[in-house]
Amino acid sequence: MNVLVTGGAGYIGSHVVRQLGAAGHDIVVFDNLSTGYRWAVTCGELVVGDLADENALETLFGNCSFDAVLHFAANIVVPESVSNPLKYYSNNTRNTLNLLKAVQRHGIPYMVFSSTAAVYGMPEDTVLTEDMPLAPINPYGASKMMSERMIMDLAAASSLNYVILRYFNVAGANPEGLLGQATPEATHLLKVACECVTGARDGMSIFGTDYDTRDGTCIRDYIHVEDLAKAHVMALDYMSRGGDSKVMNCGYGRGFTVREVIDVVKARSGVDFPVVETDRRPGDPEALMADNRLITETLGWTPDYDDLEVIVQTALDWEAKWQGMQRNTDR
Ligand code: UDP
Repeated sequence: MNVLVTGGAGYIGSHVVRQLGAAGHDIVVFDNLSTGYRWAVTCGELVVGDLADENALETLFGNCSFDAVLHFAANIVVPESVSNPLKYYSNNTRNTLNLLKAVQRHGIPYMVFSSTAAVYGMPEDTVLTEDMPLAPINPYGASKMMSERMIMDLAAASSLNYVILRYFNVAGANPEGLLGQATPEATHLLKVACECVTGARDGMSIFGTDYDTRDGTCIRDYIHVEDLAKAHVMALDYMSRGGDSKVMNCGYGRGFTVREVIDVVKARSGVDFPVVETDRRPGDPEALMADNRLITETLGWTPDYDDLEVIVQTALDWEAKWQGMQRNTDR
């Protein structure tokens, strides 16, 4: 297929681009390089541009007849979305609208959208099914929920088919060390812990130790980025075989506590970095895990890296490499 990948120079997009290339697809990446990097685009062509620029989008779609659009481009930092909500409604929601206008004008048949478990907000259940109510508690989750809704409404009014994937906690890196998370000022647990190992940070906090979990810290469903990437390639394949539009959770269906993740990072790296226990971070649900029966049954998706030790090791290997790269990496 001829595939457009927005945000393909970013963390998740770049892993998907590599797998799409390996599967024989032709790829155009559209990325404004605000958090992505040229080196991360390992297959296809990179077009540097912004989804806010509707003329640039029209040129892009006019130059190439795409069979599918995979839409990753977005801001993803929850605390920033709280302090600067309009940035999220502009870059995530309004720019998705711009993209959908081009999708509609050019009759693109297939779309895969990066959504998030943040659309569920603070659910009472800890294992989440796709039909649970959507009640995001921050602008990031709301911006993604609105984007989901626009995609569904356009699909209902046209021949567009979509797969919306609601990601749980994406972590790890390409096992060959080609790609990994290079996002500046990352806030995610495993990335922060890996930065403590390399010395990029002096130490870290555990946000809350009084949750009703096995060790008092929050539980999350950490999914390896290569397994998530595989789900996107399979989603395209599914739609090209006539599969119906679907919204699917993407996680392993099991969780680890914050302490468990930090312990594995320390054990595998041999570095005993300082960790302080602090108050809860506002808006953190106690435990979140994916019910992944739908994606397993619909796509036939099975994970290859469902192992915290492997997730942590690939993240550590990447972090060491990335620290060496940073000094001479241009966007
Ligand atoms: N967390 C932590 N210290 C950190 C970063 C995260 O204790 O420096 C905790 C956070 O409170 C949550 C879990 O780790 O319980 C996962 O947080 P993350 O930001 O990685 O992902 P989220 O689940 O919020 O999307």
